[in-house]
Amino acid sequence: MDLYCHTCHSYEEHREPTKKEKAALRPRVNKKNVDDHVICTNPGCGHVRTTWTPCATENGHIRAS
Ligand SMILES: [Zn+2]
Repeated sequence: MDLYCHTCHSYEEHREPTKKEKAALRPRVNKKNVDDHVICTNPGCGHVRTTWTPCATENGHIRAS
């Protein structure tokens, strides 16, 4: 889905995290449910946001690893 990426500063295609990425993400964002999180697919970006907020957390960017 096309959403605004905070670190690319443009609208980019985002994808759902994989099961493994979701498991890694939960403790990082301190949420039990990260089903509303999406990852920027721009090469070298991988910034995580939710479908309704520009960042996954209020303090700083998170990138999928
Ligand atoms: Zn991006």
